[in-house]
Amino acid sequence: MCNSPDLKLSLKLPDSEIGDTFTKTANEQVKKYPYTIYTCVQCGHVQCHDVLEQSELFGHDYSYTPSYSKKLESHFDFYANKLASVSNAKNLNEETSLAIDIGSNDGLFLRCLKKRLPVDVLGIEPAEAPRAFSEHNGIPAIDSFFSSALAKDLKEQIARKGQKVNFVSANNVFAHCDNLQDFAKGISELLDDDGIFCFEISYLVDIINKALIGVFFHEHLSHHALLPLDRFLRTYNLFLFDAIEVDQQGGALICFARKSKVINNDQCLKSERLKQLFEIETDMKLDTCESGRLLEKSLIASQARVHQILDNLKSENKRIGYFGASRSLSMLSAFYNLTSYGSIIIDDNPNKVGKYLPNSDLRVVRIDESKLEELDCILITAWVPAQIILEKLVDDNRFNGKAIKLNPECVVVQC
Ligand SMILES: [Zn+2]
Repeated sequence: MCNSPDLKLSLKLPDSEIGDTFTKTANEQVKKYPYTIYTCVQCGHVQCHDVLEQSELFGHDYSYTPSYSKKLESHFDFYANKLASVSNAKNLNEETSLAIDIGSNDGLFLRCLKKRLPVDVLGIEPAEAPRAFSEHNGIPAIDSFFSSALAKDLKEQIARKGQKVNFVSANNVFAHCDNLQDFAKGISELLDDDGIFCFEISYLVDIINKALIGVFFHEHLSHHALLPLDRFLRTYNLFLFDAIEVDQQGGALICFARKSKVINNDQCLKSERLKQLFEIETDMKLDTCESGRLLEKSLIASQARVHQILDNLKSENKRIGYFGASRSLSMLSAFYNLTSYGSIIIDDNPNKVGKYLPNSDLRVVRIDESKLEELDCILITAWVPAQIILEKLVDDNRFNGKAIKLNPECVVVQC
């Protein structure tokens, strides 16, 4: 991120299939890809360089289901409200003020924002199905990936319409791009002076403290902390001034940066909660390659603990199942070697029932066909909603075994 070539290898994760790949027959061979974590010695940025082609990531089997869920809607509504509270609504109006969302998906965030602020909105979304859904719901979206070249063209078109870009958002896409410099340059180019860039990211502090192996997808190339990010964004005249911790994906941050060409702009002063997060990161030395070492230590400890639990169960001939054919399952399975312990994956998703985890005989079975009463242990692989699943298993009379929840720390619960 700081352009330094001085990278330290922190951890090589086992090769795994692209997330959300399931096969029709058992033991079907599917290509695996490496995931190696490096840390920048100069700024502490944690990153992966095993960049796959977009077509490999999205080309096959890319099916779209609208992101609509009450929980996501209330999250984005909360987020839009925060953005409204840090912006000056007096200076906005629907004709001339524009909010642009990069990777806008089906337009949900912009729909929430429109309810909170008097602005015109525009999405940028390369995937056809969510873009069509977005436009159907009144949120226009451009068919493109984001780049500084696109930003330059867009800015001219927007100026001709007499508009200014007051907001640019990029939620959970800032970790995916393999050219962060060009991405940040484009954002800075698009934004009007004093405009706000807001973005949501998985937070490295949570990833380390909770050993969140589930966030390591092949699409996720950066695992951000604020210290390296702050230093990086400043070089594009973007100044972080606030950040809010949220519980999305096991622990995430909503960050706000203001574009300013003036150094020491009062509006760019850091909020108290942002200063506190900086202090936590400074104590952890996340602006050095200590960040990668802490991450390695945490993930390896989690792996050892899970192996210890599963090895004990296996030595007693206990029957083990997994709950959740999640997108993270390929990585979880590779990392914890799940194929050598369990027999089934429980999940009700109709697109996955009856299919197999690639390169394995682990079959996805509906919960009511899973013979819960015959299982001795269920490891919850759907790690994001794990607490809800755990409570259901405790209440379910058919299951009287042990449930394992991986995060924030690995616990075994007798159901
Ligand atoms: Zn760096």
